[in-house]
Amino acid sequence: MVHNCVFCRIVAGELPSTKLYQDDLVTAFRDIHPVAPTHILIVPNRHMNSVNDVLPEDEPALGRMFVIARHLAEAEGISQLGYRLTINSGSHAGQVVFHLHMHLMGGQRMRHPLG
Ligand code: AMP
Ligand code: ZN
Repeated sequence: MVHNCVFCRIVAGELPSTKLYQDDLVTAFRDIHPVAPTHILIVPNRHMNSVNDVLPEDEPALGRMFVIARHLAEAEGISQLGYRLTINSGSHAGQVVFHLHMHLMGGQRMRHPLG
């Protein structure tokens, strides 16, 4: 764990969060500044700064993130109308927290990010 990483500290339970799911590989919690009615972050428990740090041995955690995204979308009642999964990697993409995370956003129609 990286002690000055806010998401490592959430995973470890050292910082408060609205945790929705946690297992040995991944943790999901509500984004503190939601941009949609549902805005959840799903993170690997292992610290990786960005997609640049992904290793072959991370495949189970990264795959689990999609399975949990599917389950949380169903639990939030947004599966049918749809939702967006976003991973920002690096400064040009707007990544602010450098612990890899997947945004799960839905509950309203969203502008297409590519215009
Ligand atoms: P990104 O721009 O992809 O790095 O997104 C970082 C996200 O983390 C933003 O949507 C923030 O609102 C969210 N965030 C930052 N700190 C916290 C926190 N302590 N708990 C929950 N979400 C957070
Ligand atoms: Zn971290």
